[in-house]
Amino acid sequence: MTDPLVLRRELVEAARRLDAQGLLPGPSGNLSARLDAERVLVVPSAVPKGRLQPEELLVVNLEGEVLQGIRGYKPTSELPMHLEVYRRRPDVHAVVHAHPPASVALTLAGISLTEAILPEAVLLLGEVPTTDYATPSTPENQAAIAPWIEKHDVILLARHGSLTVGRTIDEAATRLEVLEHTAKTLLWAYMVREPSKLPPEAVAKLHAVRESYGK
Ligand SMILES: [Zn+2]
Repeated sequence: MTDPLVLRRELVEAARRLDAQGLLPGPSGNLSARLDAERVLVVPSAVPKGRLQPEELLVVNLEGEVLQGIRGYKPTSELPMHLEVYRRRPDVHAVVHAHPPASVALTLAGISLTEAILPEAVLLLGEVPTTDYATPSTPENQAAIAPWIEKHDVILLARHGSLTVGRTIDEAATRLEVLEHTAKTLLWAYMVREPSKLPPEAVAKLHAVRESYGK
């Protein structure tokens, strides 16, 4: 088990790093990390992530009950979605939900990231499915990600945002950064013309490389 104080610091540092890149504006977005098999560290609702302090994080169980936290603080409204990930993916130790603008723009335009276009994105993100529309800040998102989360580390929520998971907080945060970078590159390409897809044999090679990484 990771030292809870170290984990609190790592989660706050990741939140500040993502906020500095404009990926968590205002109170939007939320992060969590697994403390152990039964408990999760999660950000409070409505606190801007750029000003988040380690002691402001709440400890909840996998049923969403608050076990520890500052009086008056509530967990993020997207907690049910985070807990769905931890229940279905014992290998996952961190979850990041954000509203990355270029990635969300792709969902608005009906452009899917399941098609392999950029080789680095295939290697680092794998296939990125887009869920059906679900109302933000409600348990609908928990149901929307359920069909995808067992086989994917990066998911787009239609008209809303992203869900990235990882074995560490850094891995989940990095996947969000790579996702948004990929989406920006695709949007630039689409400004000129529809980009071509990678041939199937090139995609098969990339998946073989990705599997050799242990993913
Ligand atoms: Zn959201």
